[in-house]
Amino acid sequence: MLKIIADWHILCDEILNYDLEILLTERRFHPRLSNNVGQSVALPNIVNEKVVMCVYLDEDAWLDNYIISHELCHQRLKLKGLKTIRNLSDPQCFIENMINTLFDHPLVYKLHKEYGGDVNQMKKKQVKSIMNIIVKDIHMKKYRGDIFFASIHVADTIFNSPINYSRRLKEILKRDEDLEKKVNIILSIMKKSDIYNYDSNLTLRFNIIKEFNIKGEWIIHDDLKKLKNIIYSN
Ligand SMILES: [Zn+2]
Repeated sequence: MLKIIADWHILCDEILNYDLEILLTERRFHPRLSNNVGQSVALPNIVNEKVVMCVYLDEDAWLDNYIISHELCHQRLKLKGLKTIRNLSDPQCFIENMINTLFDHPLVYKLHKEYGGDVNQMKKKQVKSIMNIIVKDIHMKKYRGDIFFASIHVADTIFNSPINYSRRLKEILKRDEDLEKKVNIILSIMKKSDIYNYDSNLTLRFNIIKEFNIKGEWIIHDDLKKLKNIIYSN
């Protein structure tokens, strides 16, 4: 993790001409994030009149190297110019976050592996947990409140897992036809063009919006530009 942090400071200096310090804190201290269960996230914030990159961690993820590195990889891609999508009609849009995370992830995992992160071990755990949910069908009913959420979560896991794990998950998925169909549509969009290329990655995000007919006024969001604005207007 030290290498990620060292590179982070070099990159900030190069791209932002500003040393964006990293602050680790608990998610419950963020007014908007305190209710989101089970998700750590990194966001720029102003602390003591200084702009810093806050990594808001879940209680169980507190000082977990893997999670902190994962969040920093997300932010590093944004520094490098990876753009996201935004729904202007709904500032609290949950689907927007899900789609952006789904399309960030292949690049995040690639980068995290380059830094020596044990991504495969984590994926193995996720595959197991999803297979349990599908087989026992307990939380799936909860998931069912939002089948789109479930499909994105499963597609994300299949796409980013080593083939021998994802193959087993695909087999089990056959038990749930509706979910399987949606997962396959998402996976086929993810494979439609080079997801590792920033421009085509952004286009694929819009393809999901179109395919599932997700309502709203969707625009391209330049996270790097926004970050520079926060730093230089402060
Ligand atoms: Zn992530």
